[in-house]
Amino acid sequence: MKQIIVAIDGYSSSGKSTMAKHLARAAGYAYVDSGAMYRAVTLYAMRHGMIADDGTPDSNTLAQALPEIEITFQVRQAGEASRTCLNGEDVEDEIRSLAVSNHVSPIAALPEVRHRITALLRGFGHNKGIVMDGRDIGTTVFPDAEMKVFVDASPEIRARRRHEELTAKGKQADYGDVLKNILERDNIDKNRKDSPLQQAADAVVLCNDDMSIEEQHKWLMNLFKLRSTDDSAHRD
Ligand code: C5P
Repeated sequence: MKQIIVAIDGYSSSGKSTMAKHLARAAGYAYVDSGAMYRAVTLYAMRHGMIADDGTPDSNTLAQALPEIEITFQVRQAGEASRTCLNGEDVEDEIRSLAVSNHVSPIAALPEVRHRITALLRGFGHNKGIVMDGRDIGTTVFPDAEMKVFVDASPEIRARRRHEELTAKGKQADYGDVLKNILERDNIDKNRKDSPLQQAADAVVLCNDDMSIEEQHKWLMNLFKLRSTDDSAHRD
């Protein structure tokens, strides 16, 4: 089997990261959550007063601060998922909050932020053997990825899953607020100028509304086996 790059893009809370993590584990690949990087930059901007009350980011100040923002992924214990660190501090839990979710899309729409994060993400793919999820992995970060998947599900189902996830972690969240946030992020992500959320022409679409997690894993593994063994599927 050859080592490939797997790009999993799609809408917010569509189940991309669960699928991507499972595939990475099964294949012995590295997993990179690109959204975590945009979330970490957003947390930095929030903490440094770079977001106005109406949610508009101070793009110039943030662009100047970008070289000071170091984002790393650390594994605390073997077998555990990696945790996102911002300038050495573990911010994994904080970046998943609704407060960060509410600010992340305008920050991720800033070209300077996108260029910096895209460069960092590309660095992870030098040796292939990687699964990365996000919004523009198959279109911008790795347009030559051997396997591209675009995941979709209805907004209501995505909001329900996200709401259940937050509640399971003991976080207070209102279903209506979660749905509103998902719709707003979809809208900003789809309509931004720089690498908007869109399906790559050569991506395989998975609509997982009516699929169990096991069915999604099975579907993904089947595609992975095809792509990592079939030379004709390789894109030059
Ligand atoms: O994947 P997640 O929901 O954690 O991503 C948070 C936000 O980061 C998205 O709503 C989007 O605005 C941004 N993002 C992006 N490009 C990526 C990954 C995430 O613009 N490749």
